[in-house]
Amino acid sequence: MPRPDQTLTEFLIEEQRKAPGATGSFTALVKDVGVACKRISHLVAKGALGGALGEAGSANSQGERQMRLDVLANGIFRRAVERGGTLEAIASEEMEAPCPIPPGQPRGKYLLAFDPLDGSSNIDVNVPVGSIFSVLRAPEFLQPGTRQVCAGYAIYGPSTMLVLTLGRGTHGFTLDREIGEFVLTHPDLRIPEQAAEFAINSSNARFWEPAVKRYVDECLAGRSGPRGRDFNMRWIASLVAEAHRILMRGGVFLYPRDEREATRNGRLRLLYEANPIAMVIEQAGGRASTGTQRLLEVGPRSLHERSGFIFGAAGEVERLELYHREFNRRAYDAPLFGTRGLFRAGTDA
Ligand code: MN
Ligand code: MN
Repeated sequence: MPRPDQTLTEFLIEEQRKAPGATGSFTALVKDVGVACKRISHLVAKGALGGALGEAGSANSQGERQMRLDVLANGIFRRAVERGGTLEAIASEEMEAPCPIPPGQPRGKYLLAFDPLDGSSNIDVNVPVGSIFSVLRAPEFLQPGTRQVCAGYAIYGPSTMLVLTLGRGTHGFTLDREIGEFVLTHPDLRIPEQAAEFAINSSNARFWEPAVKRYVDECLAGRSGPRGRDFNMRWIASLVAEAHRILMRGGVFLYPRDEREATRNGRLRLLYEANPIAMVIEQAGGRASTGTQRLLEVGPRSLHERSGFIFGAAGEVERLELYHREFNRRAYDAPLFGTRGLFRAGTDA
């Protein structure tokens, strides 16, 4: 069992001892990721004083406008991990194609996929942002999330935390700025099972699939509805912040696929957003799904592939999967519980 006063480095060395034949290169890689997160934490904490807020005036490979901090955070990640000799290649939200470690640098056996700054569209309003990362074995990035050897995120909130899993539980470290180290403060996180909060962008309600409409309707119906209790709704619009709240306090998050062209396959990116968050969530006893299948089992076909993403307390996600299975068999026009949906599609309102 990890000790509660452990630094990230001590924790990694202890984990390394448990893995027979480990060479230490993996430990070095996670330490390098930790350094990247510390640097980004320092940069975003400066806010307007750092002179780096606002748009970069450029677009990433998916046509999304980049913030200046997106570009800076991507550079920080690259510099922190490219020279450690642990990686064969990296891939990032901000780069169109995977980038092999430059010639002349030592190479290793791992791949790192990352979202250097998640939630960056909120950075100018001082809402928590984060970094998300996934470690795979070389050489192929297009592997299902079950093959991740490590995954995690950093959240830059009132405190900076690094939350990660090496496949044996999910552990949270808080940045102690006085000594410049991540310290283990939340060993073996478990998602509370009794969920009282759901998070979804309800401005998209008219595009939702029937299973999602039904689930949200039942939450909104509260104590007098089929769930028999009241729910609260949350929406921060920052994946890392939503995932972190769910790890700490339970609940469920949905960014489902819907009927619009742009989000027909979902909005969040599989390789460096959904997969790492899903591994962290599963390792904390939760569940992560596309709605119709376990998210970690999706075989990706492209680097920036998007997916519907539902995660959180296992019972809630199972309920959503059940509703998806049911509505794949028949239409949602006769609510089981005799209450008309509060959120109906625009076409049938
Ligand atoms: Mn993101
Ligand atoms: Mn991002």
